[in-house]
Amino acid sequence: MLVMARQTPTGAGRFTAATIRAVDGCLFCTIVAGGIPADVVRDDELTLAFRDVNPQAPTHVLVIPKAHHENVGALAAADPDALVALHRAAAAVAAGEGVVDTGWRLVFNTGRDAGQEVPHVHGHVLAGRYLEWPPG
Ligand code: 5GP
Ligand code: ZN
Repeated sequence: MLVMARQTPTGAGRFTAATIRAVDGCLFCTIVAGGIPADVVRDDELTLAFRDVNPQAPTHVLVIPKAHHENVGALAAADPDALVALHRAAAAVAAGEGVVDTGWRLVFNTGRDAGQEVPHVHGHVLAGRYLEWPPG
């Protein structure tokens, strides 16, 4: 586990040091750190949203906490504020994509049987076409 120093603006030109839990070798921690480029659509203190490299719908955006947590349950247990921030970010992404009226889906694949490939919690914001239910 690495802890990356971060400078957070507090207004009036002042900055405060903050830390982000990061795991060495984690793909999404590396994206948060800027080590791998991403098509970022939203960025705030606790969350980052970027387009999925292999989109499954016209809108397919991944919303992640900047701090490393393996899955949504672990995030809820460790940092409820970040979990709320993640859902707010997902709703803001949907609004930004113009899909609030037509509808959107937020998916957290968790574990092997759900097909979770990246063990850093991420919500998939999917929209822009009719989404089948139940999913496959
Ligand atoms: P999971 O299957 O874990 O729920 O979702 C992982 C998602 O990450 C997949 O939809 C996959 O396309 C996406 N992904 C994997 N590697 C990258 C990458 O380097 N950049 C971006 N933007 N998305 C990625
Ligand atoms: Zn991570």
